[in-house]
Amino acid sequence: MLGFINGFLRRRQRERLRVAEFSSYWLEILKTNVPLFNRLHSADQEELRWRVQVFLAEKQFEGCGGLTITDEMTVTIAGHACLLLLHRETDFYPELYSILVYPSSFLVPVKRDFDDAPGIVHEGVDVLCGEAWPTGAIVLSWDEVCQAFSDDRDGTNVTLHEFAHLLDMEGGEADGTPILQDHEHYREWAKVFETEFTHLRRARRRGRLTVLDEYGAEHPAEFFAVATEAFFENSSVMKQQHPALYGELKGYYQQDPIMWLSRSDPVK
Ligand SMILES: [Zn+2]
Repeated sequence: MLGFINGFLRRRQRERLRVAEFSSYWLEILKTNVPLFNRLHSADQEELRWRVQVFLAEKQFEGCGGLTITDEMTVTIAGHACLLLLHRETDFYPELYSILVYPSSFLVPVKRDFDDAPGIVHEGVDVLCGEAWPTGAIVLSWDEVCQAFSDDRDGTNVTLHEFAHLLDMEGGEADGTPILQDHEHYREWAKVFETEFTHLRRARRRGRLTVLDEYGAEHPAEFFAVATEAFFENSSVMKQQHPALYGELKGYYQQDPIMWLSRSDPVK
C-alpha cells in the first residue's frame, strides 16, 4: 500500500514539473555543456528540460575529494543522463540514488586473479574516470565530464557511458542487454550485438581502429556502453560502419541522432 501511495505521489510530482519554470541559468548550462541539446527539435528540448527537472528533484549529488557540487555539475550530468531517456517509457533510473562526483580521476582498490598464477590474488588500484554501481550509485570525475562535452563528435562521453551501464543493469546483471520494448526483439538484439562484439574483439587483436572504442571489446556490458557513446556522438560513421548495430540502438533509444547532423543552425 505504501509503495502504491509513494508511486502515486511521485507521478503527481513529475506531472507538476512539466509546467514548472525552467531556470534560465540552467538553460544556459544545457546549451553550453550538453551540446547535443542544441541539435534537438524544440519539442525534444522541452521534454529534456522536464526530464532534467525530475532527475534533479529525485536524485542526490555528492561531492567527493573536497569537491563542492554546483548547479553547473548537476544540470550537465542530468542533461546527459536524460538524453538517454527521451521518447521512452522509463522510470528515471529507478535504482539510482546517488551521483558521486570527484574533481578528477579517482582510485579504486581492486583484487585480481591472474591466469598464470591460479589461486593467487593480486591487490592494486585502478584509476577511473567513471563507474556505475549496481547498488544505485554513479561515480564520475568532473574533469572527465567536462572533457567529454568539450567535443560532442569525438565518439566518447563518460557520462553517457556510465548511464548506459545503469540502463543495462535495469535488465539484471550488466551483460549488454537492457530491457527491450518487446519480447521478439531480444533474439535480433543478441544476434547483432554478439556479431559486432566478436568483430570488435578481432579488430582489437589485429590493432585495427574502428569508430567503437576498443575498450568495448573487454565485455558485452562495455560494448553496449561504448556503442551508446558512438551512437550519440559519432552517428554518421557509426551508421556507415555498423548499420545493423545503429539500427538496434535507434530502436532502443527511440532516437536517430544522424538526423540532428543535418541541422547547420542549432535550434536554441
Ligand atoms: Zn564501462
